Amino acid sequence: MNLILFGPPGCGKGTQALRLRDNHGLAHLSTGDMLRAAVAAGTEVGKRAKAIMEAGDLVPDEVVIGIIADRVDEPDCDGGFILDGFPRTVPQAEALDVLLAEKKKAINHVIEMQVEDEVLVERVAGRFTCANCGQGYHERFSPPKQENVCDRCGSSEFKRRADDNAETARARLATYREQTAPLLPYYRKAGLLRGVDGMASMDEVTTAIEAIVQ
Ligand code: AMP
Repeated sequence: MNLILFGPPGCGKGTQALRLRDNHGLAHLSTGDMLRAAVAAGTEVGKRAKAIMEAGDLVPDEVVIGIIADRVDEPDCDGGFILDGFPRTVPQAEALDVLLAEKKKAINHVIEMQVEDEVLVERVAGRFTCANCGQGYHERFSPPKQENVCDRCGSSEFKRRADDNAETARARLATYREQTAPLLPYYRKAGLLRGVDGMASMDEVTTAIEAIVQ
């Protein structure tokens, strides 16, 4: 099973992708994670992407298409994968169709997580993760039980994405509405699009997604 998790920044794609990965043994392909790793490693792609990401704009199509084309060839994708944050433009979606057809693969479902704009900026601007185990938190909605101590691993080191501030979150949301939301008719026409209410609790969203994929 190959899935696309679709939705604006802060809709909960990352959280649900990890649950799908664990529940179904799927590979998790997040272009945002791959680009952040490239920035941290200082590669050519990372150098090109850094300022674009910090401004909340999109990295050029050919860069992300190249990254995904290589990644879907890795053996862990043979048992199925979840695309998280890709495609984000119509040319990316078209390129994905071509490259999957070449590999005799296809997308089974595109799951759109729907969340109201006002909620998204608040969610993104308050989120942070444990630097050791990656557990996700939110300043207001889900802080660690004990201040500055990770519930999961006990570490007291936390990190925040450079683009998770209110200003960049608004820019990312505008980019989503302008360049990414126009993809919805593309997948609706292909008969693949399914919507879930991303305003519901994390567990309720998981249940709704499971009902689609099972
Ligand atoms: P994300 O972690 O999915 O929120 O992505 C973080 C940032 O990485 C985005 O705001 C973009 O600058 C860049 N990015 C991630 N995926 C893509 C993509 N498919 N196309 C273009 N830029 C991307």
